[in-house]
Amino acid sequence: MLRIWCPLCGTDDETTLHALWGCRKLKYVRGEWWPSNKLVIGHYETFIDFIFSSYRLLNGKELQTLCVVFWRVWCLRNAFIHERKRSNVWDILSWSKAFVSDRYPATGNSSVQASLERVKWKPPDQREYKINCKVVIHRDCGWIGFGIVIRDSLGLVMASCSVRTAARVDSWAANALVIRNGIQFGNECGLFPFSIESDAKRAVDEINKSTHLDSNYGSILLDIASLLALWRVSGVKWAPAACNKVAFGLAKEAISRRDDFFWMEDFPQSVRAEVYYELQIHFAQDSARKHVSIRT
Ligand SMILES: [Zn+2]
Repeated sequence: MLRIWCPLCGTDDETTLHALWGCRKLKYVRGEWWPSNKLVIGHYETFIDFIFSSYRLLNGKELQTLCVVFWRVWCLRNAFIHERKRSNVWDILSWSKAFVSDRYPATGNSSVQASLERVKWKPPDQREYKINCKVVIHRDCGWIGFGIVIRDSLGLVMASCSVRTAARVDSWAANALVIRNGIQFGNECGLFPFSIESDAKRAVDEINKSTHLDSNYGSILLDIASLLALWRVSGVKWAPAACNKVAFGLAKEAISRRDDFFWMEDFPQSVRAEVYYELQIHFAQDSARKHVSIRT
């Protein structure tokens, strides 16, 4: 495998996470900025994992500082790599803090809150349930794990399941299969009407457009179309992966267990933190809205 070494420290692969945060040359920045203690290095597999954790662990101003640090580090790396300009890493933190302080009163933390709302799971409308579904494919052992969770408009879990099956299918087919299973699970639980949410954009688009019916996977799409016509499903919608974390946890759980599991008004310990976190976000946003409406 081709390895691209970091041109600054020369001791590690130049991943985004390494370049913007983990590089040995940025030790001072991490050491001097106290919120770094909340962000343990080496705990994250990808930069996006790191960003999502930062959203949880840091407050609005700390997040703004972190973003400016990334920006500054990126500029200084480019200046070194393309122009051989050496810069003082000791200045990165003070420069970033000064930049944020100048602008913070004007921006407040409303933009951070707005970003959070965009990437968090949202409860369904009061009149329906929402079913999130996710698949995890374990290519080495040939298992596919399905994770499905049904929640109401308060964010309370009505039912959940972790199911695994042995099948050699590609990720498109696996994503369509979990959507089909989600519709069936909603029906078996009798929780109508409901909507389906998945982070598999291609599968969701093809289900909604009814295209590719003549493809190899036409039979799965036809199956889904007939289930949608039969039961009260308000829609099959796409949401970012960050909105689908509970279902993701259930799908991982499915791979690690030998048997299939179904829970009514419950869920396994492994997704407890995610469920409570999303509940908390929902209640915080709900009470903020009520607060605003009382004041106005
Ligand atoms: Zn490095």
